[in-house]
Amino acid sequence: MSVKEKLLVSACLLGVNVKYNGGNNKLENLSKLSKKYELIPFCPEVEGGLPTPRLPSEIVSFKPMKIVNNKNQNVTNEFLKGASKALSLCRKLNIKKALLKENSPSCGSNYIYDGSFSRVLKKAQGVTSSLLSQNGIKIFNENNL
Ligand code: SF4
Repeated sequence: MSVKEKLLVSACLLGVNVKYNGGNNKLENLSKLSKKYELIPFCPEVEGGLPTPRLPSEIVSFKPMKIVNNKNQNVTNEFLKGASKALSLCRKLNIKKALLKENSPSCGSNYIYDGSFSRVLKKAQGVTSSLLSQNGIKIFNENNL
């Protein structure tokens, strides 16, 4: 039996209730994906130490990196910790690809909210998505399926 390639997947896309509001973003029809890959669920915000449910957060500055929730509490360290744990896991399990939820300040790969908490998107990458792609991991999102 051949060993399947591992794919890191935003846990919320697999139906795990880790989204900020306690819900998920479950993708239907994951069977095709799971035939080809071993799916490894991961939520960087939870792994970084944030609770579920939690207040929604946005990146307000990239240099220096600053992420706050909608009560203006600084959650930068938790986001960075989650990203670093994602990279460690990829290295440990030799994961070369990740399927990450678009528009999230952690997982977004093309668009994220612009830091104004007014539901406006801008072209930029989330913290985990950015760290993984800088380290050679190929990032996909749910729109690429
Ligand atoms: S951080 Fe990523 S995995 Fe976690 S809920 Fe947000 S989009 Fe999903």
